[in-house]
Amino acid sequence: MNSRRSFLHRLTAATIAFPLLSLDEWTTAPAGNSDGQPYDGPVLRVAIMGLGSYGNRVAEAMQSCKKAKLVGVISGTPAKIKAWQTKYSIPEKNCYNYENFDNIKNNPDIDAVYVITPNALHHDQAIRVAKAGKHVICEKPMALNEKEGREMVEACKKANVKLLVGYRMHFEPKTLEVINMRKNGDFGKVLFFQGLCGFRIGDPTQWRLNKQLAGGGSLMDIGIYAINGARYMTGEEPIWVTAEETKTDTVKFKEGVDETIQFQLGFPSGAVASCLSTYNMNNLDRFFLNGTSGFAEMQPSTGYGPIKGRTHKGELTHPHITHQTVQMDEMAGIILEGKQAPVPVDGEEGVKDLKIIDAIYAACKTGKKIELK
Ligand code: NAD
Repeated sequence: MNSRRSFLHRLTAATIAFPLLSLDEWTTAPAGNSDGQPYDGPVLRVAIMGLGSYGNRVAEAMQSCKKAKLVGVISGTPAKIKAWQTKYSIPEKNCYNYENFDNIKNNPDIDAVYVITPNALHHDQAIRVAKAGKHVICEKPMALNEKEGREMVEACKKANVKLLVGYRMHFEPKTLEVINMRKNGDFGKVLFFQGLCGFRIGDPTQWRLNKQLAGGGSLMDIGIYAINGARYMTGEEPIWVTAEETKTDTVKFKEGVDETIQFQLGFPSGAVASCLSTYNMNNLDRFFLNGTSGFAEMQPSTGYGPIKGRTHKGELTHPHITHQTVQMDEMAGIILEGKQAPVPVDGEEGVKDLKIIDAIYAACKTGKKIELK
């Protein structure tokens, strides 16, 4: 192990408690490209696996990162690899395909792999990356169910590497502004959250409509934002779930691929959430949080931005930042410096959402209220 690699391993294995920024401090001073200061600290060297639509967006955004750098690729398409090599100056020795990427373990110039492939592949690919001794950043949904998610967490623990999930909203300033207000008691006792998430999906042949690759339908892809949002907006974990599925097109949305699901979550405080996840409606990207002394509404609430919203005190004012740039800089800080995210983005966080997804599907199937332990 070269000295840099051993330095990184020592750092990430360390249990030193790093001072945490409060949410207030974080939202006024996010790390990354936005502070205009020169940076000469450690840089996370990242390979992207899956050079599709979102992989391209992340790669572009990473060009403005300070703490994270795109240095490698993993793809099944040689032409895409060539194009990325040219565009991002990626050396041949940092290029892999899906058969040989376990060899990344012998590559001291890559610290982490960002898995941005179809949902059903995340579990096995993330575990292979962990076994190769590299940190894993995995897109949402982290896996297809809670069991798979837990296996990923275990594999990363065993390999002594970090596992982070691409929850970009956990670094988004207006979102953090609302969470901060809730923590400060500005809304009083939280009573209700509404999350409406959806878009009208096109091409019926895409992997998102293939149960084998997607693991489900709209809930896995877009409804997960309402689940995750219900948790970070209320600050609680649900104790029960009810859900109903409706389908208007059984040809496009085959067995096991949900078109529209309405679900409700109940929280220990008595607060409730009412959410809609759909592949059959556009312009559906809205969060609403209501408490005894105030409210917040955000629309759009989870798109690439700018996020917009207001509370009973007025407009949300924090400036727009490119979500993926800040996410990757912050994730570099988490991996290399032991920083903590303002809202967790670790594997356990991913598992919490998967547990709720399992319960929502079970509620749709049985028509029963599902209690969560
Ligand atoms: P995409 O179809 O555009 O890209 C998927 C990539 O995976 C393609 O390059 C494809 O070639 C590759 N791939 C590898 N093995 C494959 C296989 N067996 N079948 C099909 N494709 C295969 O999809 P995307 O929109 O980039 O989504 C990828 C992942 O990123 C998904 O998990 C999705 O949920 C997630 N995503 C997250 C966000 C976000 O905002 N966090 C946004 C979009 C997508």
